[in-house]
Amino acid sequence: FYPADFVALQGAFIEHMHALNALRGVEHISEVIEVRTKEELASVDALIIPGGESTSIALIAERCGILEDLRKFVSTKPTWGTCAGLILMAKQAIHTKKGGQQLLNALPVTVSRNQFGRQVDSFTIKLDSPCLSSISGTKSSDSVSDQFEYAFIRAPAIVSVDDPEVLPLVTLPPGYGQTEASEKGLLVAVRYRNMLGTSFHPELTNDNRWHQYFVRMALGDDL
Ligand code: GLN
Repeated sequence: FYPADFVALQGAFIEHMHALNALRGVEHISEVIEVRTKEELASVDALIIPGGESTSIALIAERCGILEDLRKFVSTKPTWGTCAGLILMAKQAIHTKKGGQQLLNALPVTVSRNQFGRQVDSFTIKLDSPCLSSISGTKSSDSVSDQFEYAFIRAPAIVSVDDPEVLPLVTLPPGYGQTEASEKGLLVAVRYRNMLGTSFHPELTNDNRWHQYFVRMALGDDL
């Protein structure tokens, strides 16, 4: 089993690799590699598309000629998109750059880019996360509670779910975000078939429970 990191030369991938490597003692992970080519993509069982800048990741992937292979991978194999990665995986994105941007058209949600404002409006928030209740990670002190500290950096939010099979995992309390939708609380983590999509950056905390969640999901565990 090879969970891997897709980077396309852009994004926060090293931190994902650290988080996955830290789990090697407790989960069945044989190798963690960076993916930049079709061949590397074909060699992995699971993929993380990191945060960064979704327009740049899409452009670089297109130039490297792996956009179509990525589309195929994401629609069939375990894939987790964080932040920019979530935007890429979505079927629809709003507040995109003029002229739009390439998406992988896989996860049936609409994401709104930069939903919480600019870089300076980045924030962290601790939230109860019942979906992590069976996950302990490698940092045992934190794992006593279901709380997780979430980091949002020019993050997107999921503003509409376009398939009843999409499972909501984490919702922010009302008042975070910029649209009317934020009054009800914005959705920031979902699961759908082989896909996990999160607005936040779990690789930036030293708590790797979300990585463990993804690995278990990829291995077919009932979570
Ligand atoms: N705002 C970025 C984008 O639209 C995402 C930011 C991030 O990944 N931290 O791609």
